[in-house]
Amino acid sequence: MKRRLSDVLSEFARTLVTDFPIQAILDHLVGRIVDVMPITAAGVTLITPGAKPRYVAASDESALRFEQLQTELGEGPCLLAYDSGEAVLVPDLLADGRFPAFAARALAEGLAAVFTFPLRHGDQQLGALDLYRTSPGALDDDALSAAQTLADVAAAYLLNAQARDDLRVSSERARAMSLHDALTGLPNRTLLIQRLRHAILRGRRTDKPVAILFADLDRFKSINDTYGHHVGDELLVSVASRLTALLRPGDTLARLSGDEFVILCEDLEDAAQAEHLANRIGRALSATFVLSSAEVWVSASVGIAFTGRGDDIPEQVLQDADTAMYQAKRKGGARHGVIDLRERRRANDQVSLNHDLHGALSRGELRTEYQPIVATSDGRVTGVEALLRWAHPTLGIVRPDAAIPLAEQSGLIMDIGRWVLRQACVDRHRWQRGTDDELEVSVNVSARQLMAAAFASTVADVLDETHTDPRHVTLEVTESIFIQDSERAFIVLNDLKGLGVMLALDDFGTGYSSLSYLKRFPVDVVKIDRTFVADLDSDPTSRLIVTAVVGLAHGMGMKVVAEGVETATQFREVVALDCDAYQGFYFGHPSAAIELDALMADRASGQPLRVS
Ligand code: C2E
Ligand code: CA
Ligand code: CA
Repeated sequence: MKRRLSDVLSEFARTLVTDFPIQAILDHLVGRIVDVMPITAAGVTLITPGAKPRYVAASDESALRFEQLQTELGEGPCLLAYDSGEAVLVPDLLADGRFPAFAARALAEGLAAVFTFPLRHGDQQLGALDLYRTSPGALDDDALSAAQTLADVAAAYLLNAQARDDLRVSSERARAMSLHDALTGLPNRTLLIQRLRHAILRGRRTDKPVAILFADLDRFKSINDTYGHHVGDELLVSVASRLTALLRPGDTLARLSGDEFVILCEDLEDAAQAEHLANRIGRALSATFVLSSAEVWVSASVGIAFTGRGDDIPEQVLQDADTAMYQAKRKGGARHGVIDLRERRRANDQVSLNHDLHGALSRGELRTEYQPIVATSDGRVTGVEALLRWAHPTLGIVRPDAAIPLAEQSGLIMDIGRWVLRQACVDRHRWQRGTDDELEVSVNVSARQLMAAAFASTVADVLDETHTDPRHVTLEVTESIFIQDSERAFIVLNDLKGLGVMLALDDFGTGYSSLSYLKRFPVDVVKIDRTFVADLDSDPTSRLIVTAVVGLAHGMGMKVVAEGVETATQFREVVALDCDAYQGFYFGHPSAAIELDALMADRASGQPLRVS
């Protein structure tokens, strides 16, 4: 039996790898013990004082019944061994008077002897191991010490598993806490932004609007000042629960700070649904709040912003909703206001926006920002991409996705495009001073701009005026140019190549994504769209696609730039997948030229650059 015992012990050591779950340890213990000991069944109960046992294991049905019986009756050798920390030996249950209730029931079911060993570690009691036999008689000393050895080893493993369990629970709790607001338990800003980001990406596929409702209580400060913070807190908790009652499945209610609540609604049928919700918020809050030491009433100002295009930036959408809320508040509160950038761009305001754009260039409202493009091999900034910004006198910064389509429709794109190219060359020139390490500048070119007569000669003029070597300029075009008129696109791209500029295929993978374009057109760089990069850590198909694109592009002597790298994980992925360069918030957001001067000066002096 010694040998068999040592077999069982070494088997334990081998199978009970560090993350073996508790139940499995117990099942294994009782299963094997019946094989090596002169007994008929075995059972284990782990005991938590004052609570039902969370873990019970048994070698068969009868043992399971005896374990449960002891727990039910609160009596039996198992409990005695647990309490005393000593083995309890009952070689003849009929003759033993210590557990009358248990004995009566167990004898009736054919049990004749029980030997129980405490599961303990140091002075910690975990439970007990019961060995059952259907015939009376003692166990010899070898068997007794073997049983206690098994119980001790199992106890050590159990403690380990217990510690791991506790750790997991507490780290899950910590994580949940940092994503939730401590007062109301609602998602906080971090979690909201995460969900909003996902909603935006999903909206790109479903084409359904996503709405953000930004609600801010009116008069909250005066309630806080009058009744004190505990009443204020109590009010916030009640507001949270009234708002929660308005949600549809899938909606998210978050608390940003103080009295700011935000509802994220996905999959809306139409924009009007969000306004209905805003009305319901108003009604839900209008009833008096009866709190423990005061009765108060509040109202809220609500701002709504919609997204629906996959390239909206979560923080921006939230900001839009905040702006709309603020406008509602300025009109006196207790109402809602809507900012719908999509609608605004497309409908009413489009006319005036169009009108405004006409003078934007001459009034000096256009700007360029630059986003660094960084080599994956050594982390050096090899170039920058110029991105257009329009500082509208009343609307604030209008992003290019709004401005460029307008400019294309009106034909202004030719002038604006020329201006961006010129500005980019001028800024490049300044950064280039004092270094031989050539900085590349990338400029986006829209389809209409590219197809316009004389585009290539415009480019040639600008390069000439700014003394820019064409090799350091990359023009970024999207696949859409091939759809409109691929013959003409082919001719223009070749003209541009003739000038010596570089060509990049932008947003690769979002459009018609035919890898065959790569073969036909004289492209030097492929820029992988950020939707693939965003999915790299979650979606295996994205990895496959990126791998294929990198392989093909490299095979044809093209470089690959990954766009929209936001996290360290995504960064590691694009390095691992052999992309040559990347850009994205992980290294840096687009910034005004002047803000990049320091970075460029470091670059010129050959200092290593680092992600800040
Ligand atoms: P794009 O060429 O794909 O430019 C990259 C866009 O992604 C920029 O948006 C940039 O701000 C954003 N971005 C950069 N890194 C990240 C990141 O890590 N995460 C996320 N989520 N976004 C990131 P932006 O500046 O709003 O430009 C939008 C688009 O407008 C550009 O997309 C480009 O197609 C067009 N555009 C910009 N400037 C010009 C221009 O001067 N002429 C023309 N024709 N189009 C322009
Ligand atoms: Ca681009
Ligand atoms: Ca792009």
